[in-house]
Amino acid sequence: MADAVFNESQALERLASIIDPIKEQDIISAGRLADIAFKDGVARAVLKIDPKDAELFAPIRQACEAALEKLKGVDKAQVILTAHEAAPTLKNPGPKTTGRPNTVRPHKASRPEGYQGDSQVKYVIATSSAKGGVGKSTIAVNLAVALAKRGKTVGVLDADIHGPSLPILLGLSGKRARSTETKGRPMIAPFEAHNVRAMSIGFLTKDDGPVVWRGPLVQGAISRMLWDVDWGALDYLFIDMPPGTGDPQLGLAQDIKPAGAIIISTPQDLALADARKGVQMFKMVDIKVLGVVENMGVFTCHNCGHDHHIFGQDGARQEAKNMGVSFLGSTPLDIALRESSDEGVPIAAGDGPIANIFQDIASAFEQSLQKLIDA
Ligand code: ADP
Repeated sequence: MADAVFNESQALERLASIIDPIKEQDIISAGRLADIAFKDGVARAVLKIDPKDAELFAPIRQACEAALEKLKGVDKAQVILTAHEAAPTLKNPGPKTTGRPNTVRPHKASRPEGYQGDSQVKYVIATSSAKGGVGKSTIAVNLAVALAKRGKTVGVLDADIHGPSLPILLGLSGKRARSTETKGRPMIAPFEAHNVRAMSIGFLTKDDGPVVWRGPLVQGAISRMLWDVDWGALDYLFIDMPPGTGDPQLGLAQDIKPAGAIIISTPQDLALADARKGVQMFKMVDIKVLGVVENMGVFTCHNCGHDHHIFGQDGARQEAKNMGVSFLGSTPLDIALRESSDEGVPIAAGDGPIANIFQDIASAFEQSLQKLIDA
């Protein structure tokens, strides 16, 4: 295959030798690179700039093309300069922001709205948490499995590019993605486990170690997994977002343009303060929050049978109410949940009290989505 000779990391290295005339750092670190692709001997790169800087960037464009053309396998390079829209920032949005801050502009999906590769995905849903380790991926996967049990066709895309956990959660560790062709277009075949279709950067990299990618490429890689994976017809495609509420997450949310978002939080105060930031983030870009799922809400001692509210009681439910978003349910802190996750058999796939909780969450999620559709 001709494409195999093109080495993206070498291309990035070359481009990183070119200095951004405004930010005075290399163009990769400066976040200029919006996309890079290679096909039939032609390397294409997209640099985001402010239109008023077009003249200043003309020599940069030429330098990038020359740098790319030096690469093995590249016959020709095309570098395109596109208008840069500043990502809205969450910095100091102010405690009582009623309208939208000036920095926020109506967002556009970078592909035609509703277009998800050659497949038909009815609803793209983001699952988000403001910090790592609250069980976001665990909840996303089990919710997906619960919905599949209800007869829905569901996919999960692991966008947590720095710590992909989907392969472990679905028992697909060590698997490598295969390419496929749909209607003459090369695509990536998703995996399927527990009736859920899955794609993760973990299936695309050589080892399971963390992937250290530079900012703009993370977004590019996720978009690629979203649009170039042969998802087929899906009722729901969950995008398991990287934790956080900063500019990368905001940019990603804008790029993916999900129909709605689910926020996962523990009842812990700190996590809740963060959950509020998550709600705020999605509101800023006009993405509806379908609800909050509380994880690790209660721990029931297997010896004494008592309930322990380790991270506080009912905080998430109360906070959801305060924020004006639905409370979709609460999952317990439970060793069986952890063990089943580690074994790659989502607990929602079985029967039992926790599987039932996920069924209730799935039902609450569908109701919340229906409300949104009807509104
Ligand atoms: P995140 O996606 O927020 O980083 P994960 O879903 O990867 O978090 O979960 C982090 C760890 O916590 C995993 O080991 C997972 O098995 C465990 N975990 C998550 N939720 C629960 C729970 N309700 N009970 C017990 N362990 C849990």
